[in-house]
Amino acid sequence: MIIDNAGGLVFRPPSEARSFILRVTIGCSHNRCTFCSMYKDSKFRMRSLEEIDGIIDRGALAMPFIRRLFLADGDALVLPTDHLIHIMEKCYASFPHLNRIGAYATPADLIRKTPAELERLRNAGLAIVYMGIESGDDEVLQHVCKGTTAALTLEAGKKALAAGMKLSAMILLGLGGKSRTKEHARHTAELVSALNPTMLSALSLIIPQNAPLYEEVQNGTFLPLTARGFLQELDSMLRHMTMKNPCIFRSNHVSNLLPVGGTLPKDREEMLADLEAYIPQADDIRPLLNDTGNF
Ligand code: SF4
Repeated sequence: MIIDNAGGLVFRPPSEARSFILRVTIGCSHNRCTFCSMYKDSKFRMRSLEEIDGIIDRGALAMPFIRRLFLADGDALVLPTDHLIHIMEKCYASFPHLNRIGAYATPADLIRKTPAELERLRNAGLAIVYMGIESGDDEVLQHVCKGTTAALTLEAGKKALAAGMKLSAMILLGLGGKSRTKEHARHTAELVSALNPTMLSALSLIIPQNAPLYEEVQNGTFLPLTARGFLQELDSMLRHMTMKNPCIFRSNHVSNLLPVGGTLPKDREEMLADLEAYIPQADDIRPLLNDTGNF
């Protein structure tokens, strides 16, 4: 649900489907990841508090029943902490049934905030942040210009958890291509095990034609995984994951070849059994559709 006239495409996590989407920024301040085209057509800007207040007022009139609200676009936490707190206080005052606010947060956003600022944000109602880890392998992160390292990502996620926020993390199967799949699987599993996020989603790499990585596929410098390769990589990641506390794991996004899900570590063997039954036939069932490396 959105009331806006800022233009550009709007994205939100699947679990925020019923939320009011409040775009406190337009685009992504980083906007350099070579696999991502989400905000390539949006010029990044932070919206003024006046502009945001007006949207909240109109939203509260049109949809007073809202219970959840999501701060967009790509990295809402890039805003100054005082602005975010002003926005959230106004949201809770304007939507009488509101009980949760969420936002995307990049590792850089979380690193920039002090523990005290993150606690203030949590106390003001920021209950969940969604952080794109993508990979725990520094070589992969550097190759796709993610603008962070595995160590910084771990530190960022731990800060969000320490502040009492739920942390929903995303990893991207296939991001290392054929040449780096083993390292991508192992290092990503190590990172998420050390972090132990509340929720973890494993999406599969889909390369849009306007993403810089598409060019690498075309000139043969990036070799995408086959269907079987994606599932073998997921299998390897799951085997290397050693979370101690329950983590809700999902690999059932529209990009995924086989829906897999459960709570780690409890359901790991069941998920591996599902994968093992499917992997031998995966390339026959889901051959590549074209030379872009996409299904
Ligand atoms: S993946 Fe996230 S941080 Fe990277 S460009 Fe896309 S929205 Fe920005």
